[in-house]
Formats: sequence, C-alpha cells, structure tokens
Amino acid sequence: MGTSDPRVALRRIRELTGSRPDLAARYEAAKSTIRRFRKPAFYEITQRCNLKCEGCYYFESERTAMDEQDAVAEWESFFAREAERQVSMAYFVGAEPALHQERLMAASGHFQYGNVGTNGSIRIDAAIPFRISISMWAGDDETDRTLRGASVFRKAFRNYCGDRRAIVYYTLSRWNLDGARRIAELCRDHGLPLTFNLYSPTATYLAKLADHQPNDDAFFRVSNSDDSPMLSQDDLRAAERVVLELMEDFPETVLYSRAYNRWSTQPGPLHALDDEGNAPLCGSRITSLMHYYGSDLARKEIKCCTPDLDCSQCRIMSGGWSTKLAPDARDLASADSFADWLEMMEALKRIFVYEHRVSGAVRSEPEAALHTL
Ligand code: SF4
Ligand code: SF4
Repeated sequence: MGTSDPRVALRRIRELTGSRPDLAARYEAAKSTIRRFRKPAFYEITQRCNLKCEGCYYFESERTAMDEQDAVAEWESFFAREAERQVSMAYFVGAEPALHQERLMAASGHFQYGNVGTNGSIRIDAAIPFRISISMWAGDDETDRTLRGASVFRKAFRNYCGDRRAIVYYTLSRWNLDGARRIAELCRDHGLPLTFNLYSPTATYLAKLADHQPNDDAFFRVSNSDDSPMLSQDDLRAAERVVLELMEDFPETVLYSRAYNRWSTQPGPLHALDDEGNAPLCGSRITSLMHYYGSDLARKEIKCCTPDLDCSQCRIMSGGWSTKLAPDARDLASADSFADWLEMMEALKRIFVYEHRVSGAVRSEPEAALHTL
C-alpha cells in the first residue's frame, strides 16, 4: 500500500513506458500536473461558519480557538511572503472562507493556483481567481437540513450557475446516496462540473457515538450509534456503483476517475497506519514542505488539514488525491495499473487545477519536486 521509493518507482516507470509511447506521453502530462502540487500550503481563512454540518471535520473536533488577524494589510504582506516562498498551490480553507472575502482578495494577486473550499451558500466575488470547491451534502431539502442544519444546495446553484471557477463536491454518505443523481442533473443544468468526496468521521464524533452521548443542537444533532452518515462496507460498494452510473450517464458533467473511485471505496483503512493509528504516508500530512497556517497567520504543527479525522476511517478527498500524487507499488505493478494511475492524474488535473493568469504572480519552474517523479 505504501509509496514506492522514488528511484525504484522511476526505474519501474521507465520499464513501463519504454515500449508504450502512449503511456509515455500521458506520463509526461501527469508530471506536469504533479509539479503544480510541488509546494502546497493551507490557509485557514476564518474559524467561523454559517452551517452546522453533522460531524463537521472542523467543529466536531478538539480545537483551540485563536485570535484571527483582522488587518487586511497583514494578510496582504503574509501572502506576498508566501508567494516569495514559491507556494505552488494555495488551499484556502475554513471553517467558511466566503465569510472573509477581503482575506481571499488579499491572496488573489499572489498565487497562480488556488482552491477555495466553501459550502457555496455565499457567493465569492468574481475577482477572486481561484478554483471554488463547493461542498454539497444532499439533493433534497429535508436531507440537507438534517445533514447541514439548513437547506443550502439550491442557493449554491444560484450563486455559481455557469461560473467556470466552480466545481461541486458531493459528499457521499449513508444518508444521501439517493440524492447524487439529482445533484448531477442540477450540475448539468447549471453548467457546473461535479466530483465526489466521501464522508469521513472525526475522532470526537466517533467517541460520542461510542459513548452513546446525547445529541446536541450543534454538530451532533441527529446521529446515534445505530444510525449515522458514516459509510459501511456495503454503503461503500453502493457509493462506488452510484458514482460509476453517474460517470456513464453524465459524461460531460462528472469529473472523476474510475480507478480512484475503485481505490477510494475499497474495504478497510485506505491508508497504511502506524502504531498510533495515524497515516504517515498520507499525502495530506503537514510537513516541512507543506505548511498550514491558522487565521492568526501563525504556522500550525498539525497532522493534516483535517487533523481530527480518524486516519483509520478517513476517505476524505484531500487525503486520497494527494496520496495518489505519487504512484505506489500497486499502481506500478503492470501497464494496466499504471494506465489507471495516469487516468487518476488526468482527473485530478481537471478537478483541482484552475488555470488563470495574473500579472505579478510569482511563477517559476519547479526547483525541487515534492514528488520526485
Ligand atoms: S463541514 Fe464545512 S460547511 Fe459544514 S459546518 Fe463544518 S466548516 Fe461549515
Ligand atoms: S487526510 Fe490523511 S492524515 Fe489527515 S486524517 Fe485523513 S488519512 Fe489521516
């Protein structure tokens, strides 16, 4: 399951591509995509959110509140320093970044590639030139209210209809598989691409379920140990089928990968675990190369961008896709499995890379590749 030694992997890739010019050409394109992720960084724009999603990765967790930096000028100079550091992919996360768009605006001149994770309920100014990744949790009002505390999916479609920055992430859970088709139809009708995420529980949420804790009026409103949005093995198989059907039926709308769909819904933990139950090889781990900053603009030494998620049950798209940026031994086992990995990289590019041009942005060819392929 683990990531291959880069030198061994390179040797193997040369073998696989040597007699296959088709794979060689696709591999060159994959390398170009991977370079865009060579030095990513996460910026927590704010600790506030306007929704109450059940088992929220952010609020249903052990968190230490911080004093947010309010001065836009400080954000401006902070992002300028980050650009000098040659951050290649900027992830703007929250809670809900759309609540502080002046901070997003402060970043807008500094990065060529950026991704804003939002719940879609507040329109993000058209001048912010980054990928807008909209999370959706339901395709009907009742399920949306159950899962998020409010029905917001229609509002997100109104806010982003035809916006070429935007992509919808449908978070597949046990309670909403039957809503995925409705969301695919709405995406098609609103000119928005659709991709998927898989519901993943936090350690705090799992502890509440295990302790049979009473529900509250915040992020643990409706779950109990017998019924929760968490995906069982049977649900994962059903989720894989739902996604495959939607890929077939909405080929112009769904941006996803068959190989990633198969990999991410496999039984058992998705990532190899260490003795503490953490996933040391997960591509989302915060490292000396991948920084995470809080909304106080201080660097945080945390596990990953969703640190309270339980690695043993984590199927969140950020951890999954970033792990796949480097092919593992199974990806390199045969020409067919390598072709599957290439298909993942092709989908990853379409999902995450939003091309825009800004004057003054720091753009340079990669010096040291994070993923050394
Ligand atoms: S999951 Fe995101 S949108 Fe939902 S409450 Fe948490 S931070 Fe807000
Ligand atoms: S993203 Fe990776 S490190 Fe973070 S919880 Fe998931 S598996 Fe663990």
